[in-house]
Amino acid sequence: MDHVDLEITLAGWMAVSREFGGLTFVDLRDRYGITQLVFDMESNADLCNQARALGREFVIQIKGKVSERSNKNPNRPTGDIEIIVSDLKVLNESETPPFTVENETDGGEELRMKYRYLDLRRPSVQEKLFFRSKLAIETRTYLAAQNFIEVETPFLIKSTPEGARDFVVPSRVHHGQFYALPQSPQTFKQLLMVSGFDKYFQIVKCFRDEDFRADRQPEFTQIDCEMSFVDQEDILNTFEGLTKYLFKQLKNVDLPDFPRMTYDEAIAHYGSDKPDIRFGMIFRELNSVAQGHGFGVFDNAELVVGICAKGQAEKYSNKDIKHLTEWVQRPQVGAKGLVYVKYGDDGSIKSSISKFYSDEQLQSWGDLMGAEKGDMLLILSGEAEKTRKQLGELRLEMGRRMELMDPEDFKPLWVLDFPLLEWDEESNRFHAMHHPFTSPKKSDIDRMLNGDHETMKALRADAYDLVLNGSEIGGGSIRIHDRELQEKNFQLLGFSEEEAQEQFGFLLNAFRYGAPPHGGIAFGFDRLCTLMQGSDSIREVIAFPKNNQGRDVMIDAPANVDETQLVELGLEIRQEE
Ligand code: ASP
Repeated sequence: MDHVDLEITLAGWMAVSREFGGLTFVDLRDRYGITQLVFDMESNADLCNQARALGREFVIQIKGKVSERSNKNPNRPTGDIEIIVSDLKVLNESETPPFTVENETDGGEELRMKYRYLDLRRPSVQEKLFFRSKLAIETRTYLAAQNFIEVETPFLIKSTPEGARDFVVPSRVHHGQFYALPQSPQTFKQLLMVSGFDKYFQIVKCFRDEDFRADRQPEFTQIDCEMSFVDQEDILNTFEGLTKYLFKQLKNVDLPDFPRMTYDEAIAHYGSDKPDIRFGMIFRELNSVAQGHGFGVFDNAELVVGICAKGQAEKYSNKDIKHLTEWVQRPQVGAKGLVYVKYGDDGSIKSSISKFYSDEQLQSWGDLMGAEKGDMLLILSGEAEKTRKQLGELRLEMGRRMELMDPEDFKPLWVLDFPLLEWDEESNRFHAMHHPFTSPKKSDIDRMLNGDHETMKALRADAYDLVLNGSEIGGGSIRIHDRELQEKNFQLLGFSEEEAQEQFGFLLNAFRYGAPPHGGIAFGFDRLCTLMQGSDSIREVIAFPKNNQGRDVMIDAPANVDETQLVELGLEIRQEE
């Protein structure tokens, strides 16, 4: 409103126009929003006719006078004013766009991705990128204030094993040889610690050639960090500080201190290493009360475990229970069946297993689980690890149904003490749970160096995840900085001495020359951005994302390359004679 009566020049796109008596109104869209332009047939017929001839998405420049609107639009930052136009220039014309360039658009996702540059003109989409930009800038501000140095590490490297496949890039100059794109700058940031940079960060692209899963991108961005002369506590504090700072700056949300939970607790109580703690429904083991009463399914199970869904007893008819049972039986969840116990408002107890248990017994289960009248227990049983996972899925589904997952309710937590190694039945070998550079807990080093196979399964690492609303937004560890321990870890992971030397000789060599104790973390920047904005998909916060099949439908990649390029790269496909 400070600008009323000012003569101004604006440039942007013609969003919509409407005629109203002798007046023509045009909405001009630029990166700051929408401004209403007014053309008056009576005072300037030529100009008004020119305005009427404008098509959608024409690029225009106008001169005019700012005027107070009689009917203000409170939904727009510029809704109190309009511009009485005195001059109009068409800078460029536009064909009719394939979908409406408005917040509410008629374009489906595929079409919008094909014309992403038009999709990105929509104010609601632009907002996501403005947010992202601010998130990156604030990250830099915070870390710079803490003396972190931003260092770029190379994209053309040799593979870093982080559990996924590498994208490889053929070398033209060295036929038959390939670079790999980094899955993360892991080894480089560790080398920077050896170099003495003591606090490093980078907002960096990482590349992982994984099988497609919903909401995965083959290239994504991390806030990648590493620090020297620190222990786990220092890292947790620094990056809890960063997270709190970002929420304050971008959302004006004051996050309280983050709760901490061990990996074992997370699995036992939530069936997940990334529990959503916006709501309770914490698991309760029922073996001691459920077994030994003649119900074979429970008697033969390694684990009987349940959750208590508050206030759901009267809401679930037999038919609803049947549907819920079918839901847990879907292959994605994989439970065999579902047992319920309903504590009616009138004190009655109904259950699918009342044949085997008396009301008193079922009441005692309810007491154990803190159930009151109106509540419903949902119980699964079977092999412990699988059953916990299945109940974890069911818990989340109940959380969704009961609307306990408000996207504006932010509940971060640290999950600590991950296992160091994971036994893989299929390949008959250990995998690193985090990555091969992760340090066992100090108290476990002896057992790692001298223990037997079973001992290895129980080793714990100084590895941690930052979890927000059921998503892992950050993960890291204290690293091994002792050459012998690193060699031992490679050996446990099934590398021969030669293989370890060939793949990681550079790191093992660096460890000969005074590697400081160090550790770090990486945040999934896209995911953090998605969660903070309450977006549905990671694609919404990426300017030019790939679709769920890993394709860029706008530039049509991946694509074939021509024969001469293949020959140059030494990749020509020879026809067999
Ligand atoms: N490089 C690890 C990752 O990308 C993070 C870390 O350990 O700092 O998950």
